[in-house]
Amino acid sequence: MEPQIKRWKGSACDTDSWVAYPVLSDDQSQDVELIEAFAAPIVDKKETSRLIRELNSLYPLNGLQHIKRVRACKGKGSPHPLEVLVCLVSDAPDVKDVSIGSLLPSDGVRHDGLGEPFVVKVPARPPLTRPQFELASKHWPTSFHEDKQVTVALRGELFSPPQKATMHLYMMSAFTAAEAGKEMGMEAVGAVVVNPATQRIIAVGHDCRGDHPLHHAVMVCIDLVAQSQGGGCYSFDRYPACRFTSSDTDTFKSGEASSQPYICTGYDLYVTREPCVMCAMALVHSRIGRVFYGTASADGALGTKFKIHSQKDLNHRFEVYKGVLSKQCEDLKGLESHNRKQSLED
Ligand SMILES: [Zn+2]
Repeated sequence: MEPQIKRWKGSACDTDSWVAYPVLSDDQSQDVELIEAFAAPIVDKKETSRLIRELNSLYPLNGLQHIKRVRACKGKGSPHPLEVLVCLVSDAPDVKDVSIGSLLPSDGVRHDGLGEPFVVKVPARPPLTRPQFELASKHWPTSFHEDKQVTVALRGELFSPPQKATMHLYMMSAFTAAEAGKEMGMEAVGAVVVNPATQRIIAVGHDCRGDHPLHHAVMVCIDLVAQSQGGGCYSFDRYPACRFTSSDTDTFKSGEASSQPYICTGYDLYVTREPCVMCAMALVHSRIGRVFYGTASADGALGTKFKIHSQKDLNHRFEVYKGVLSKQCEDLKGLESHNRKQSLED
């Protein structure tokens, strides 16, 4: 099924009106956690490598391999060019007055060349994103293995203008389905499953929970994808906007069962608003490739309340991007609350 260009309300130029940002895991998006450590100025630079060696042996920074032992203090107002991490405050001997002598037993590290210790804060975990790295480095020099795709995605620049035009088209199909569902008295939510390899829309669905409380747009779409593969459980015949393309014209030919994808393997979902927990779990179970949504939901499970797509203890994870056609999708939600208000008044 080809996207319905005729029914577009916007145009390809509207792709400038939205930006798709990644919904990262908690580990990737949390603030930088800091722990306290003792540092000391290196007053005799010639002693640096010996001090590092002896300190590494006396106070190895276990689990903190991302932390650099020494930092340069150029321009930081320090009279000495280098400072070294002596130990974590939690590893230091329990003494009332901390001095370099009390931190370093005479048989461990010769403290020639070291000044008096002071407390600094160092990042407790390795930074996973460039913003985390930049924040962490303000406290203490930290190594960073950059995932370039995440950096570009966080800038909202992962998708090229032609890719955005295609994404725009898919979300418009979801938007149009949402409107069709709303006209039939359903919630204004629409979804589309696409095979990005062939750029074909496999299924389009909208909310059908007037018939069944579990028929959220995403659940409808997944069932339609299953129907396209000869499975599925429900009939959506009375909803003309809910439809699928038979998959034997898509990635595999009938008779080649072994090449049949497991429901949504490798497919993308476009949905006008962030899915709930049930839908997010159904996306995990159906092995969706990526999810793009227009606008967040208060009870959303892909970023707002939960991040089901990045749960380490689930056996499938997927990328999520939000903000595709955000304005139009937000307007759909406006229609929704208007409908609800009206039905309360009726
Ligand atoms: Zn749902």
